[in-house]
Amino acid sequence: MRDGRRIAILGATGSIGAATLDVVASLQKHAPTENWEVLSVSGHSRVDKLVESARAAQPVPRTIVVSDEQNATLAREEIARHQLTRHCELDVGPDALVRAATDVDVDTVVAGIVGRAGLESTLAAVEAGKRVGLANKETLVIAGPVVTAAAARSGSELLPIDSEHSAIYQCLAEARCLAAHRSQPKNPPTSSINPAEATTAPQRIEFGSADHSLPGVRRLILTASGGPFLDSTREEMEAATPKEALNHPTWDMGEKITIDSATMMNKSLEIIEAKWLFDVPADRIEVVIHPQSIIHSLVEFEDGSVIAQLSPPDMRLPIQYALTYPDRLPCPAPPLERTQRWDMSLIPVDHERFPALELGFEVARVGGTAGVVLNGANETAVPLFLSGKIRFTDIARLCKQTLLDHNHETSPSLTRLLELDTWSRKRAAQLAETISVA
Ligand code: NAD
Ligand code: MG
Repeated sequence: MRDGRRIAILGATGSIGAATLDVVASLQKHAPTENWEVLSVSGHSRVDKLVESARAAQPVPRTIVVSDEQNATLAREEIARHQLTRHCELDVGPDALVRAATDVDVDTVVAGIVGRAGLESTLAAVEAGKRVGLANKETLVIAGPVVTAAAARSGSELLPIDSEHSAIYQCLAEARCLAAHRSQPKNPPTSSINPAEATTAPQRIEFGSADHSLPGVRRLILTASGGPFLDSTREEMEAATPKEALNHPTWDMGEKITIDSATMMNKSLEIIEAKWLFDVPADRIEVVIHPQSIIHSLVEFEDGSVIAQLSPPDMRLPIQYALTYPDRLPCPAPPLERTQRWDMSLIPVDHERFPALELGFEVARVGGTAGVVLNGANETAVPLFLSGKIRFTDIARLCKQTLLDHNHETSPSLTRLLELDTWSRKRAAQLAETISVA
């Protein structure tokens, strides 16, 4: 068994954050000798929920992080009300997130902040060589090459929490072993490394066919539920209300990702996420609709064999896998029910009704500045739709037009990416002004 795991949960008040707290409480019960412990929790709003979750965790996290002074005042009151003043300190602002992510006592950072707001803290955790449970896919969409290069330098393990990518990671276990085996020298020199250290060192996949580094892998196949508009007509989608779009048939998630699932922009972001996480070109990634959300993704190998990962739609399983990898322990997520009939269908995607998807493939193909522009436009368009300023179908239109309006660069610096994040938000907002919802 490994040493204890001390965790920073960034975005603890969200759907991923709450599920992580649940997983840690369960791990403390099932693996008490490993000293699972949450060292810090962060939140942006709902400060009462944040402090309440800190109070409920055992032991109480030593740091609570809030984004700004306004929330800090409320947090101080809540901390005092729960009599936690002696147990934990309050840290405030974006730098506080980075401090929590890089705390020397933290082993694993769960990146559960939504959107671009999670970029700096996630990148800081990667640069500090932490294990990162990555839910915040936007970080890879915006800055994939920067993040993966930082991980290669620091030895940080990027463990996907996104269920599709966790599924693929699990399906690739054999390919990873093969890569590690082939990269061993035939007659290894006698090593002075402690064998216990050798087994826990992260294994990187470093060889493969000409265009990617996964031996024997032909394609990664991401499943998509299809969201609430899977069977809707174009006209119905044009007139869709926020309430209808927020009514996801299989997953209970935060608002932004729920809208992204309805437009299928979420799958677009996941195509780009897969490209950077697994180092595969866009033409080796496929998307297939699977409305039941039980098959979380599949990997097709060169011999035609397809390996899939199955479990009920519950994020606690991929979160726990990221925390305990390579160990497997009992999990609070329910097991796959086997006393009833499961219909598991795989349906080809209708690209005409879900134009957002093609944007994901295109962005994954061209890389460079395209990811940050797509993400900035989408993060601007989603709240505009939720507040009734644009139609549901305008989200993908705005994203496409913003992409078309930008001058693509292939190897931008992080500073340039952040400039383009600001530019793309402004551009998408300008474009939205020209749209009439009447
Ligand atoms: P959520 O809206 O439920 O929670 C978001 C969290 O981020 C909250 O704790 C919020 O306080 C924090 N936050 C928001 N804006 C912030 C800011 N400006 N500064 C600091 N913190 C801020 O979102 P979620 O559904 O938990 O999703 C979180 C991330 O995980 C997203 O990137 C999403 O795509 C990804 N993800 C979520 C699920 C899921 O099932 N919910 C599945 C896969 C991936
Ligand atoms: Mg997903």
